[in-house]
Amino acid sequence: MRYTDLHIQTQREAPANARSEGHALLVRAGYLSHAGGLTPLGQHQITRLHTLAEKFGEDFFTRLGLKVIGKEQVFFPFESGSVEAIHCPACGYAARQELAAFKKAPLPAEAPLPPEKVLTPNCHTIETLANFLGIPQEKTAKALMFTRISDGKFIFVVVRGDMTLSEAKLRNLVGEFRLATAAEIIQAGAEPGYASPIGLREALVVVDDLIPHSANLAAGANEAGYHLINTNYGRDYTADHIADLTLAHAGDPCFHCGNPLTQTRAMLLKDGSAIHFEAVLLALAEAHHDEKGLILPPGAAPFEIYLMHVPGKMLDTLAEAEKIYADLQSAGLSVLFDDRNERAGVKFNDADLIGCPLRVTAGERGLQSGTVELKPRRAQDNIPCPLNELPLQIRRLLDESAQ
Ligand SMILES: [Zn+2]
Repeated sequence: MRYTDLHIQTQREAPANARSEGHALLVRAGYLSHAGGLTPLGQHQITRLHTLAEKFGEDFFTRLGLKVIGKEQVFFPFESGSVEAIHCPACGYAARQELAAFKKAPLPAEAPLPPEKVLTPNCHTIETLANFLGIPQEKTAKALMFTRISDGKFIFVVVRGDMTLSEAKLRNLVGEFRLATAAEIIQAGAEPGYASPIGLREALVVVDDLIPHSANLAAGANEAGYHLINTNYGRDYTADHIADLTLAHAGDPCFHCGNPLTQTRAMLLKDGSAIHFEAVLLALAEAHHDEKGLILPPGAAPFEIYLMHVPGKMLDTLAEAEKIYADLQSAGLSVLFDDRNERAGVKFNDADLIGCPLRVTAGERGLQSGTVELKPRRAQDNIPCPLNELPLQIRRLLDESAQ
């Protein structure tokens, strides 16, 4: 591919809106526009990544040199990532936090005790209630009340007091919802701040799957200032749905193997069979760069070779480079040919930014003795190479870069 056909526009300065180093370099190297859209070079790279994904299947991310986590959902751990991932280092399970599964520990079995109404003034939160009653938060039932968008149905959710509701899990179960208003709560027979599902009218009751295994919980009495202690699922109320509704956190046991989960900021690269290729491009840029630009591994670069000519005084270096371009393509190598009439320094900088694994420079002095210069992106120095050995030497250096 010719540089001029790809309409690459490199930038000296990082864009002011860059989200990360990798993102800044993708804009500077001309893979992304300032507005974040794919340029022709970016589009070419995405097409190449599609091909690699089909070719390598499960090995795709390893081939790109990305240290990822997860199998069904694949994440690239990254502090500026847009999702929170839960990961089990022991068995490799990973999922978005809001939908991640974890093993929940039931409370020790207890015989149900008779319910008892107790005065609990100013206990509007689980924390104040647990402190007031002198019980751990896991011995309380947390009430959350919503109204379904589609039909206005009042939804009463119960999770254990030490757990956090995952709104995403609830949404998957009941559809879109919003917070219930005080009027809606009272209409259903509950009391804001002192609510429980006991004795409600017309409510859809949804409880976390740990609730039926948690005996004698303190819950609201649906009367201002009062709670009930020793409420028990099954005896005092039942639910329309029992489901996993709570958020996994670091330290919770893995659902699959029981080892402690970890939590990390990440980019989601793959969700089931859908690969997010633009996120993969960003992950590549984060994982493979230095201060001059991208350093893409041979398996993950848009082109294996960046071929440039340095305009000469005595010799038509462009015509010579055109010949080399044709030869390298015939040898089955993928080449980005910088055919611009630009100063060498400009081209060297652009080659470093774009990050192809190997640079081939056709300059006047070398060509007069039948050689060009090769430089792996990571190397400091050029390696002179006779033209007749070119494809062979290139293959050798690309193999070395891939190590
Ligand atoms: Zn595990």
